[in-house]
Amino acid sequence: MHALVLEDFNTMTVQERPDPTAGPGEVLLAVLATGICGSDLHGFTGKTGRRVPGQIMGHETVARVVSVGDDVHGLEVGALATLNPVVVPEREAAAWAGREHHHPDKYVIGVRPDVVSAFAQLIVVPARNVVPLPTGMQPEHGALVEPVAVAVHAARRVDASAATSALIVGGGPIGQSLVLTLARAGVTRILVTEVDPARRDLIARLGATPLDPTSGPVSDQVRAALGDLADVAFDAVGVSATVADALSSTRLGGAVCLVGMGQPRLDLDAFTISTMERSIVGSFTYSSDDFRAAVEIVAGAPDIAAALISRIVPLSEAPEAFTSLASGDGTPGKVLVRMSAT
Ligand SMILES: [Zn+2]
Repeated sequence: MHALVLEDFNTMTVQERPDPTAGPGEVLLAVLATGICGSDLHGFTGKTGRRVPGQIMGHETVARVVSVGDDVHGLEVGALATLNPVVVPEREAAAWAGREHHHPDKYVIGVRPDVVSAFAQLIVVPARNVVPLPTGMQPEHGALVEPVAVAVHAARRVDASAATSALIVGGGPIGQSLVLTLARAGVTRILVTEVDPARRDLIARLGATPLDPTSGPVSDQVRAALGDLADVAFDAVGVSATVADALSSTRLGGAVCLVGMGQPRLDLDAFTISTMERSIVGSFTYSSDDFRAAVEIVAGAPDIAAALISRIVPLSEAPEAFTSLASGDGTPGKVLVRMSAT
């Protein structure tokens, strides 16, 4: 099989690797397509230190079941599936159901360096992390489930289904996934700040209202668009300036959810939190419940899912795609790598 290897920071190569086989409790998957995540790009450049040279990354994926190991039931060979990359030890999986992401010994496929992940053509994963997709779903759309699961979890963290208006700061793939998720949760007015004009166009096509943060104070723009401040806000960037925009644009008693992790420390205007009784809530990855909800959201919105995918590149062109995306080439949505010919 072939795999896309982080040979060194800023250098991806396609290499030959031995085909793996599934052991007990495991499943062998033939990867169809895998999305390039912002975290993969930061791993590629070495910015965050969460990826290491020699690693095969990839956690946003869609695949077909090739074979199953002993003791695996309920997964048919040939079935279309995606992968929940958050793995908890098997004997504790049942006890941690619904809060897998809080397990102290969890690991994430695509992040853990010694696990061959979804930028390989064949991967072996625990059967309990394989999530079958509905028949009739466009296969490539399965690679969007993981980023949408991030959005589902964030929306639940601030009980967004009780909100009528929301501001999303940052219109990249997570901000876009939030638009889809919040619309499905019944939020009727969704505003998104985004500096890039191509992304603002995409946001408008998704049915949300794009705002240009460089054209005036964001809270003023929110007030002008809604006639009030937003019920909730999501920061999908995570730097001091964007958190400040999210806070100042949220109504009295409203909540701001931090999803983006742009910088490790923030400068906060404490008085805008205390005097307005706003809450700040963190959100990181998702539970298996969030992940299953994301399958339904993506499967139920094929037109939106198609709009979220900017392009699909063959494996041979993946190194180039990483270099181009890391340099900020202006791609508005998600780039997928096609891992197989089918
Ligand atoms: Zn990701």
